[in-house]
Amino acid sequence: MADAPLRREVPSTPAVAPAERFAARTAGMTASEIRALFAVASRPEVVSLAGGMPNIAALPLDALSVEVADLVAREGQVALQYGSAQGVPALREQICEVMALEGIRAVPDDVVVTVGSQMALDLVTRIYCDPGDVVLAEGPSYVGALGSFAAYQARVVHVAMDSHGLVPELLRTALHTLAHQGIVPKFLYTIPNFHNPAGVTLAVERRAEVLEICARFGVAVVEDNPYGLLGFSGSAYPALRSMDRDVIYLGSFSKTFASGLRVGWALVPPAVRDRLVLAAESATLCPPSFNQMLVSRYLAGHDWRSQIKTYTEAYRDRRDAMLRALETYLPEGCSWNVPDGGFYVWLTVPEGVDTKAMLPRAVTARVAYASGTGFYADGFGSRQLRLSYCYPTPERITEGVRRLAAVLEAELDVMRTFGTPARLPATPPAVRDGPQAPSPHTP
Ligand code: PMP
Repeated sequence: MADAPLRREVPSTPAVAPAERFAARTAGMTASEIRALFAVASRPEVVSLAGGMPNIAALPLDALSVEVADLVAREGQVALQYGSAQGVPALREQICEVMALEGIRAVPDDVVVTVGSQMALDLVTRIYCDPGDVVLAEGPSYVGALGSFAAYQARVVHVAMDSHGLVPELLRTALHTLAHQGIVPKFLYTIPNFHNPAGVTLAVERRAEVLEICARFGVAVVEDNPYGLLGFSGSAYPALRSMDRDVIYLGSFSKTFASGLRVGWALVPPAVRDRLVLAAESATLCPPSFNQMLVSRYLAGHDWRSQIKTYTEAYRDRRDAMLRALETYLPEGCSWNVPDGGFYVWLTVPEGVDTKAMLPRAVTARVAYASGTGFYADGFGSRQLRLSYCYPTPERITEGVRRLAAVLEAELDVMRTFGTPARLPATPPAVRDGPQAPSPHTP
């Protein structure tokens, strides 16, 4: 008799599609609306008022080339090697000097360098939020933060703003309501300065009150401040962290230097730091040494304060062009804020117009924007849209707003004719080959 086979046949299992193996938390990860239109929205003839890309045209590229070459030649053995999970010590010290402009007194030991402040947001959510936990955030809020909250299955409760930012009374009401349900939110996520997307700034008089309310309800505060030094008046607002050492503060060099280097940071209380560093280590081992050392050289050897002034002057010109165009072209029934820094105007359109449904028609008319619903976790925002003035030239901004106004007029015409909200075809135009600008969606 032949020997029995050594290996038994494994019974075959039915094929499983990869998507069926994904973790439940990935269900909350959805592409933004503008991403779906990316191929057409990034065609050169489309004026994109959708993305939040910093305008880095004024960067001293020649001087930076010299720095890069010198960094490789003199410090290449360190710059091209793994580094500390918490970040390069010299840079952490300089970050403390940058934050001092907003009244923050901090020590390098409490700074954790991250791959952009987006990573800091992700890590903070990771260490605080279990599925189902509640996070408070302004309504509307930064789309990248909502993405992180969704990825960790946190539930977002929005608190409304007015032209002076988050409304303390509404924050108190939201916390009372949640307390009655036995819920203590894990943290308040807030963008106090030149808000993305709302463009507003939290009034200085409200800052202490917001902190006090959160302290009373035992809620941590996460202050996200990538635009804080981009105020048009030239002076910075006092950070929430400058008033309360327990605030978790997120900062970034993306808007003040170069977003492509992906260098940001979190300033955290010592009790949070070790957990955050462990989370950072598991995500990336360490932030990129080379990029950190380049940022450090830039801060040490260049007049970065003047560079920020150059940026803000350019942004103010663009903001002015946008406001002029909005006044000139938009139909009645639209309203918007006047930002005094940052990148964004938040526009409310007449009743009945749905900005998400209108977007493909706007792109057909060669203008792109970010529709409001992407900035809310609860489906609100269909009458709102975000316009970014940071990247296009003032002439392009004017032209973009003129096109947008024509699209809005057409929607209103349909509504006047049929007496119902516009229901035009939502099919985007066909994609043609051609030069592609960078993503209009950079949040
Ligand atoms: N927070 C806010 C409010 C932002 O607008 C952005 C980017 N636009 C980020 C965080 C992330 O910035 P980065 O990762 O480039 O530092």
